[in-house]
Amino acid sequence: MTAASVLPWQQARWDRVQRLRGGARLPHALLVSGPGGTGEGRFADVLMQALLCTAATERAPCGECHACHEYTAGTHPDAVRIDPEEPGKAIGIDRIRELTGRLNLTSGGRSKVARIEPAESMTLAAANSLLKTLEEPPGDSVLLLVSERPGRLPATVRSRCQRITFGLPERDSALAWLQEQPEMEQPEYWLDRAGGAPLRALEMAAAGFDETPLVSALVQALGEGRIDRGAIDAGSALPLSRSIPVLATAVEDMIRLRSASDPPLRLPLERRRLGEAAAKVDVRALFDYLDELRRSIPGPSSALRADIQWHGLLADAAETGRGRRNR
Ligand SMILES: [Zn+2]
Repeated sequence: MTAASVLPWQQARWDRVQRLRGGARLPHALLVSGPGGTGEGRFADVLMQALLCTAATERAPCGECHACHEYTAGTHPDAVRIDPEEPGKAIGIDRIRELTGRLNLTSGGRSKVARIEPAESMTLAAANSLLKTLEEPPGDSVLLLVSERPGRLPATVRSRCQRITFGLPERDSALAWLQEQPEMEQPEYWLDRAGGAPLRALEMAAAGFDETPLVSALVQALGEGRIDRGAIDAGSALPLSRSIPVLATAVEDMIRLRSASDPPLRLPLERRRLGEAAAKVDVRALFDYLDELRRSIPGPSSALRADIQWHGLLADAAETGRGRRNR
């Protein structure tokens, strides 16, 4: 078994965390966050294994000891994972009670490590019931909260955690890593399509994700003020967590195209279409629409149907394109 390691762009942050561990100064509650698709979960995973590994005290997990074997097999008794029962569902108060119950069980003086992901999917009641544990975790246990949208966590939770926040990696670093992935062809193309997030690029390449129909729908609505059947179909079948980031990336590119003569774009293949549509819309209206998109990424407990909300977002784009939105 090879030892697990963090991603290259996470190394500096990893080294800092290890120094804290070495000085026995690692906080007991950590909030690991980033834009998504950059390996936040992987960082938390390696840290969790390192904390349980019996060979490593300030280093990466060895991958060889009994604890490491149990961890990778998913059977380590002191590794507690709290996640939604189904993707997109909320983490309720019962799961947090289960977590605190397990942390309170003694296990021969060994410390436990718990990971809550995605942390923002905790209900308010679940988050409130976690507060006391965050402040004083039983024994030497460590809690890792992982979130792509830490802003959705209650301030009371955030303030009790030490933050480990990742941004998008440097493009060169992301590309170098993607080039090493055996299944990756055309790394630059996919990295651009993924808005600079390398793990999302890998996932999109594997799924053959094609954002062209989403961009077509947006360009038609913003540039021509209309929506047709194809535009509705383009996004209706996709989860909003997938479709809205594509729209937001496209609108950001349109704003870039309005602000500079030959700017680097996240969707360089769409330069011509985005430029043409952008030229027809007031740039402040584009900023307003971008705000709306960012607010619209659904929470885990959202009861809104994706097809209805997608249609609403396109309708707002068409209104924006016709210059008729009330602001
Ligand atoms: Zn080990």
